[in-house]
Amino acid sequence: MTDLPGIVITGASGRMGQMLIRTVLDSPRARLVGALERTGHDWIGRDLGEAMGGAPINLAVTDDPLEAFARAHAVIDFTAPAATVEFAGIAAQARCVHVIGTTGFSDDDLHAIGAAARHATIIRAGNMSLGVNLLVQLTRKVAAALDEDFDIEVIEAHHNQKVDAPSGTALMLGEAAALGRGVRLDDVSDRGRDGITGKRQRGHIGFSAIRGGDIVGEHDVMFAATGERVILRHIATDRAVFARGALKAALWGQGRKPGEYDMMDVLGLNE
Ligand code: NAP
Repeated sequence: MTDLPGIVITGASGRMGQMLIRTVLDSPRARLVGALERTGHDWIGRDLGEAMGGAPINLAVTDDPLEAFARAHAVIDFTAPAATVEFAGIAAQARCVHVIGTTGFSDDDLHAIGAAARHATIIRAGNMSLGVNLLVQLTRKVAAALDEDFDIEVIEAHHNQKVDAPSGTALMLGEAAALGRGVRLDDVSDRGRDGITGKRQRGHIGFSAIRGGDIVGEHDVMFAATGERVILRHIATDRAVFARGALKAALWGQGRKPGEYDMMDVLGLNE
């Protein structure tokens, strides 16, 4: 039992944090060795099981990442960009695998994560589900097969608490479409249309975001031409798919050499 890889979950009280904790506790392949929350959070010092409304599990929630990561083989982190950048440095010091599900990073954040990946194994993906990663591959292939007569639009829907847009998954899909077309997404990205925007430009990749209720995550990639449309769609109905993917990534990362990987690597979809 104690030989199983030890996992720390950051953002323990969050939507994904709680799902990840349940997933690790239920797994026969890993053990939970730490749960982290920010300093001042009312879960700090409490038993994690009780804080989650259940029976005690003899593990106190901590606000000390250095101490927690030192005990871990992997950290699974679905929090916020500033927190994740800080955790990347600490995980690199502690030499533990850092699985990053957080989205909404700036270029500076990504640069800092890249620097940490020189010393640590980092697996980062805007979406950890098998279905979405397959959708990314299909998007690249369809974009390569259809020419610019087909306008590409990425449409995503999420719950009303989400703070970033477009979603990390929408951006992954946009990147895949751009790759298929042989262009840079930054050069063709069409975001935040409002008012008199002018006509759609040929070759652009558009993004639209819907926010409402408890939608877990829905993504369409639409290829719209005159007279026909192709729509690739993924619908997530349960956050458990992301948590299972993240745990799979944490286990896959054990013994891997330092560097930045993604779910395509974990799922063997990069070949
Ligand atoms: P959430 O419910 O708001 O949870 C975020 C958690 O992180 C909260 O508990 C928050 O604490 C905590 N946190 C923030 N800053 C922290 C810090 N400095 N130190 C410690 N904890 C900190 O959000 P969520 O829905 O779980 O989503 C979290 C992230 O995962 C988002 O970026 C989301 O887009 C992403 N996500 C990714 C995937 C994927 O497959 N890659 C899937 C779903 C979600 P407070 O409440 O105190 O702020």
